[in-house]
Parts: sequence; C-alpha cells; structure tokens
Amino acid sequence: MAFFNKHLAGLAAEAGVVIIAPQTLTISDFFSKASAGTVADRITLLVSLYDCYKELYPKAEPLDDFIFWGDVLLGDFNDVDKYLADPAQLYTNVADLRNMQDDFSYLTDNQREAITKFISHFKGGDSREGDVKATFMQIWNILLPLYRSFRKKLSDSGLAYEGMVYRELAERIRKEPVSDILKAVFPNTDRFIFVGLNALNECEKTVMLKMKEASIAEFCWDFCSDMIRHPLNKSSHFMNDNVRMFPQAFRLEPVRKDPSFKVISVPSATGQVKQVPEILRETGINGSNSDDCAIVLADETLLMPLLNSIPPEIESINVTMGYPLIAGEFYSLMRDITRMQIHLRIKKDKSIFFYHKQVWNIISSGLFKRLIDEDEEVKEIIKNIKKSLRYYICAEDLKCGNGSDAAKILNCIFKPVVTDLSRADAGLVRNFADYQMEIISLIAPILAKDPSMVLEVDFAKEYYRCIKSLRGKKLEVTAQTYAHLLESLLSGVSVPFRGEPLKGLQVMGPLETRALDFRNVIILSCNEGVFPRKNVSSSFIPPQLRKGFGLPTYEYQDAVWAYYFYRLISRAENVWMVFDSRTEGVKSGEESRYIKQLRYHFNKPVEDMVAKNPIEASSNESDDIIKTEEDIRTIREKYLSPSTLQKYLDCPAQFYYHTVKGLRKDDEVAETMDASMIGEVYHNTMRALLMGEDEMNSDASFDKRDNNRTKGLEKVSTEYLESWLKREKDIRRKVYSLICAELKSDEVSGRDLVTAEVITRYVLMTIKRDIEILKERRCNAFIIEGLELPIHAKISGLKFFGVIDRLDRLDGVLRVSDYKSGKDDPKSLLATADSADKVFEGKIDERHKKKALLQFYIYNRMLEEMGYAEQMTDSMYAVSSMFKDPVGIVSFPEEFNSAMQEHLDSLISEILNIEIPFSKADDEESCKWCDFKMICGK
Ligand code: SF4
Repeated sequence: MAFFNKHLAGLAAEAGVVIIAPQTLTISDFFSKASAGTVADRITLLVSLYDCYKELYPKAEPLDDFIFWGDVLLGDFNDVDKYLADPAQLYTNVADLRNMQDDFSYLTDNQREAITKFISHFKGGDSREGDVKATFMQIWNILLPLYRSFRKKLSDSGLAYEGMVYRELAERIRKEPVSDILKAVFPNTDRFIFVGLNALNECEKTVMLKMKEASIAEFCWDFCSDMIRHPLNKSSHFMNDNVRMFPQAFRLEPVRKDPSFKVISVPSATGQVKQVPEILRETGINGSNSDDCAIVLADETLLMPLLNSIPPEIESINVTMGYPLIAGEFYSLMRDITRMQIHLRIKKDKSIFFYHKQVWNIISSGLFKRLIDEDEEVKEIIKNIKKSLRYYICAEDLKCGNGSDAAKILNCIFKPVVTDLSRADAGLVRNFADYQMEIISLIAPILAKDPSMVLEVDFAKEYYRCIKSLRGKKLEVTAQTYAHLLESLLSGVSVPFRGEPLKGLQVMGPLETRALDFRNVIILSCNEGVFPRKNVSSSFIPPQLRKGFGLPTYEYQDAVWAYYFYRLISRAENVWMVFDSRTEGVKSGEESRYIKQLRYHFNKPVEDMVAKNPIEASSNESDDIIKTEEDIRTIREKYLSPSTLQKYLDCPAQFYYHTVKGLRKDDEVAETMDASMIGEVYHNTMRALLMGEDEMNSDASFDKRDNNRTKGLEKVSTEYLESWLKREKDIRRKVYSLICAELKSDEVSGRDLVTAEVITRYVLMTIKRDIEILKERRCNAFIIEGLELPIHAKISGLKFFGVIDRLDRLDGVLRVSDYKSGKDDPKSLLATADSADKVFEGKIDERHKKKALLQFYIYNRMLEEMGYAEQMTDSMYAVSSMFKDPVGIVSFPEEFNSAMQEHLDSLISEILNIEIPFSKADDEESCKWCDFKMICGK
C-alpha cells in the first residue's frame, strides 16, 4: 500500500494536481470491516474450541496436547467457511454413507468420484488399520457438532474466526443489496478497485460478483507475461477464471523483453548472502539507485546475516518483512528461564534446585552475559556455578545481595516460582506470568540503552504483550500448559523491521513482492522445498474430500507460489537466483523447480555462475603446521603419555592442538553415564574393593587429582575376594555412590540404574577371575604395590607420565594390570616384532587395535627407568572378553621390546625435529571424532 500511495503521489505531482489518496485495505481487512464480526486472537479461539471439544469428546486430551489439533481444526473450519462448503454434508457421519451419496446430486462427477474413494477407505481393509480408522472416525463424527457449537459460542460473545467473518458477509450479500451493506461501512466510497489478487476463495468470488453486478467494482489482474499465462504453468491456474468472471478494467503495461537469468550455486546457507555485495557491485547498484532492487528471502533466517553483509555504500535499506520472534536471542533466553522453572525440584528438606541444563543455557546466553557484564560479584557466582559442574544447582547458590542491576536480574531470574506442577490453577498461572513480566521489566530498559539491541527490545515488547494477553484469560491450567500456550502464541509472532520506508534497497519475503515490480531481483534460497515452500499444512479433512468439496489442496499452494515467482520476474531486467547446493539431512541441495522450468520448459538462456569468495576455511585445508623452537621447548617441558603418543600417530596436528597448545573442550555436565564415566566407576569400585572394607563402606569417591590414596590392602587373599562374592548388595551400593559422585547428583535414576547393574556385574566377574588366577597359580594372595598409581619417568629425553590401574605381585612377580571397559581385546597383547611395526606404522584401525601394546610397553619401560630391574608381566581385565575367557598374564618377548624401542626412539626424534611440521591426518577416520575439527579447517 505504501508503494501504491508513493506511486500515486508521483503521478499527481507529475500532472500538477492535488488529489485525496483513496482508502486502501487488504482483502481480509475489507471483509472484517464490511461484516460486523470481530476476529478473535488465536489463543481465545483455541481455548473456546477446546471448551466445546471437551464437552463433545469425553476422552479429550489435555489442552496443551490439543493445541496442535486445535490449529488444524481452526484451519479446516476457516477453509470450510471461506469456500462456502456445506459442513453438514462434509462432516456427515460415515455411518450414513448411503444416504450421503444420494444427497450429492448437486456435485460434479469428479467431486462425486473423489468422495466415493474416501468412503471406500472405510470399508474392509486390514485389521492393523482398524484402530487408526476407529480413532479417526470417533473424532470425525464429532466435527459437525463441534463446528456448530464453536461458532455458537463465539457468536454469543460477539467474536468470530476469519472464515466465519467471510461467510457471514457472503451469505448476507446474497440476501441484501451489496451497495447498502457497503454504504453503511464505507459512506464516502462509490467505487471499489480490487488489485493484485490471484487465488480467490468462494466468499471473495461471491462478494466481488455482487459488487460487479452492482457496477461498484473494477478489477486489475497482473498476468501480462507469456510465461504466467502458459496453460501448462501452474501460475495460470486461477487467472483464466478470474479474468473470465471479473474482466480486466485497465490495459496492462506490456512486459519488457525477457530478463537476464543468472543462477549461482553456493555450498552454504549463509554463504549465499556473501554473494549479494558481489552482485550489487557487478550490476552497479549503489546508494543512489538501490531502490529498484529487491532481495527476496525465501528463508527468513538469512535476514540477519544479509543485513550484516550489505556493503556500506548502500545507506538505506527497507525491510518489508517481519523477523520471527522465536529466531531471536531474547526468545531463547526467556524460553530457557521458563523451562528452568518447569523443571525445578523441591527436596524433602524444602530446599529448591534447578536442573543444570537450563541454568547453563541461561548463563551462557550472550544476552545474559551482556546484562551482568559490569558486576564482578555476579560474574564470580556464575563462574563458581560453572566450575562446580553440578547436575542440580541449588537456588540459594544463585543469589547476590549487592543490590546492583545485575544482582537484581540474577535474583529475579533464579527465584523459584513454579512450586507445584500438578495443579491447574489460575492463581499459579498469574504468578508465573507476573514473574516473566518482572524479568522483562528489569531487562528491557537496560537493553534499550544499547542502540545495537533495538530489535531485541522490540522482541521484549512483543513477548510482554503476549504474556499479558494470556494472563488476562484467567486460565485454569497447569504451569506447563501455560508455558506451551505461550510458546504456541509466540511462534506466530514476527516483529517488523524499522527501515527507511520506500527508500533504498528493498528486502522482502516472497509474499511481500505481490503487485510490486523491480528492475533487479535477487532471490536467495532458491531451493526446491524452500522456494516454493514444501506444503506441510495439516488437515483433518482427507485430500479426496477436500477435492470433492472444492477446498484448497496442495495444488492450490503450488499454483500460488508459481504465480508469485512468474509475476515477480515478469517486468525485471536482471534476475539472480542463488541456491544452497549442499545436501544435508532433509535438505536436498536441489535448485528450485522454477530454475528448471526456465531452462527446459521455456528454453530461456540461464547463465550458471560459480560462487566467488568461497568459504575461507577450506583455503588452508592441506596446510601443515610449522614447528617452532618454542613448540619443541613446550614438548620437552610437558609430560607425554601413551595416549598423547597415540594422538601423534593418528594426526600430528591433533597432537599439536592438544599437547603443545593445551587446548581442551569445555567440561560439560553429564546427563547420563557416558562410556568414560562407566569406566571410571568400574575402576574406582575395584580400587575401593582392593583398599578394604572401610573404603567400600564409605561414600567417599576418588578425586582424579588426588594421587595420594594409592595404597591398597597389603594382601588380597582368596578368602577376602570370596567374601565379596556373597555381598553383591554392598558392591551395588558402592557403585551407586560412585555414580552419584560422577554425575554430581543425589540419586541414581532412569537408564543409570541399568548402568549400575552392569558395572556391578563387571566387578563381580573381575573378582571371580582374580580368584581363578590365585587358584590356578596356587597362590594365596595378591601383594598390592599400588592402585591407580601415578608414575613418572624419562624416555629418550622426554618426560612421561602414566597411571597404573593396579600394580601387584603374584608369586613374587611384578604385574601391571589395566581394567578396560571398552572393546579392547586381550588377544592384542600377544606381541611379536611384527606387532611393533603395526603399533607405529599400521593403518589407523590396526594401530587402534594394538594401542594397548603401546600403553603396556611404555608403562613397563617407565617402571624400568624408575628402578624396577626385574621381569615384568602384564594383564588386561577386559569386560568385552572377561565373561567368556580367563584373564591372561603375559610377558613381552625380547624381539618385541627391542623393535618397540627402535620405533619409539625414532618417533620421539621426529617429534623433536624442527624440520618436520605437524601434518594433518591423511585418514578421514581420524577426523571423525576430533575435538579440533572447527579450528583445523580440514
Ligand atoms: S580434524 Fe583431522 S586433520 Fe584436523 S586436527 Fe583433527 S584429526 Fe587432525
């Protein structure tokens, strides 16, 4: 409308006349105004619909489960009314099908055929489908009474949904003179001009026809290009009927010659926006002529990256599209706050805890960090929360009493509000809404001081408005249902951009391009499934019936999108279509069907272009990392271990990031036991068991950094071990307490109960195998030299560090034992000279199979360096084989030891050689789980 008024003003100025601008309305505003009904907001409609549904359907699901279906039903009722379908015939009880068929005499043959197909679906069929059909029929049979009672309920309170308003006007217009109805609403208007419409519903057709007959309406259709009118092009689907029923009032401006079409394929979503400055430069679009260029965003999430990529010479930008509230940072923060309240826990002593996941999300949010940035005390509280890695976080630990703005925000967010999840109570909902509104009132004024936060402030206002509207409904629902309703309300909200209206580069969605022409058009995300958008609208009315009763089907959407596209390009001179060529998940990376139609159906010359400025990360893909003197110094200072050497063998670059630069992934709070935690609990239970009764009875765990508690029982006898076989319950109790320590939780629950059972079985089996070894060797006991024993030694000039799970003596012979809870196979300890080659030079899977050999060899060698000048043996307690095979005791042959020594020395001299860079892995397998993928650029 703004564009129309601008154009009209230009024409008036040109002609030197003064005119009063005509009133302009969208078609739905015209209907709302012309009929008396007030269209209610979505939540009011959903809640009213649910009330009616509950009365008719005793098995009604809770309100929050109903919301999705409620939206589907609202959509259906809208269609039924806008397309003037007879609800009594559409929603006929299928039990009365025979009668129903007789009543269809007024339908066309095609419609009757479609309905007969639908009916046949409910006869016979396989029994597995029986339940689905029965449930569908139960709902189907209440749709007519639901439609009627819902409309009545709304009418009684002076409200309506959009379709109801449309139908009301169409039906009234059949009985009363249209001029009288419109005169009462638009007293100063004699003529109405309909511009830019395409897919008309039956109500629109009825009203427009009556207006045409009364000679008070004119119609302007935009269908000038041959491509739009082509009978095989879906864009022409509605136009023939439109022009036949409502002849064109004005001569159409002829199209210029075909535009030039260019297609750019980019292997990235945001990479597409990086093409825009290049296109603008190439076409000579700058600050002075940018208002004849439209950038069309089929995927609105590209809006922010696009705005950040517009070159500085374009000073004015007009964004004619909303930005979805749910895509903003403000929404994410408020959503996490809401979820945190829903998941809070109250312990028996009434202390209140928040679940770590939402707390971490909140404190990691960029917006939250910005809000507390000035306050060192609050920052310290947050730091301590992060450091503690607790599963549940006590609300008391998130309090700050210094009275600053940041402290107020912290105290407000982390105060417990939802203390009863089961109660459906209007008071509880009101408190929850008040809490959210209080947070917004604290946050928004701080954000408003920062000019870069304009959009977030607009989001905050919209968020506040939605909460207020929901609060006003006085809903008797649980806090969870309230949160779902709020999310569903927010999901439809977009915030308009404040740009320079009618000036500068135009950025818009496909819908906003209707009735507008631009010389230059750049369409981003011109992918199949995005432009045109995949049709995902749901409906209770099966497609056959939709077709039969003339309701819109997916073909309708296809025709609408095709019209958008072909109309938009019909008067352009340059059209760029940029698409994301990656195939990822459900994204196909396929160019839009419209590009294919231009090429193959209309035989237009479409130029394919290669994306310039490809993503930078790939530019140094194969670059090795140059080694420096400093790196060598660092390596000499650090302690290496078998696993860091393994990293070097897999990928020297990974060794560089991990060992030389000391980069680590942030610790995360664990949700459930992962593989390394299972290993840790198994190790620690065995450690406690070999330390004796007191350790098994205590709830103390083992601090990884505490290397002092390495002393076990002096002797671990067969009797001692056998006594534990009878105390499975006590072992399980210890396992539970160690799991709680790992998870920083107070209880073992869910899947972890199964994990605890598995670990208990591992421990019992280890005890059995130990008893077996003692009996077989005719020994009475193991002599424990150390448990989880840290060892340090130098090998070939470098410092090494390791932790031996269990160092003991059996019949006087020293034994290094390792517990393995992964897939390691003890057979890999059978060592030959050939195995030494595989450890260092084998393919990645061979090396990994043999990695235990490297570990045991290095531990043995370190012990030697530490002065254990005696024969050594090694054992692997591998849970993968322990349940079927006994635990072996091996001793490495001399040929293996000397081959290993040779390889290890040469590896160390390579690591210390400044001429040899840290190369990147040749084998993609190494990169699969690498923590440094993002920075490595491989
Ligand atoms: S991503 Fe691959 S090449 Fe890069 S550091 Fe990791 S393992 Fe090495």
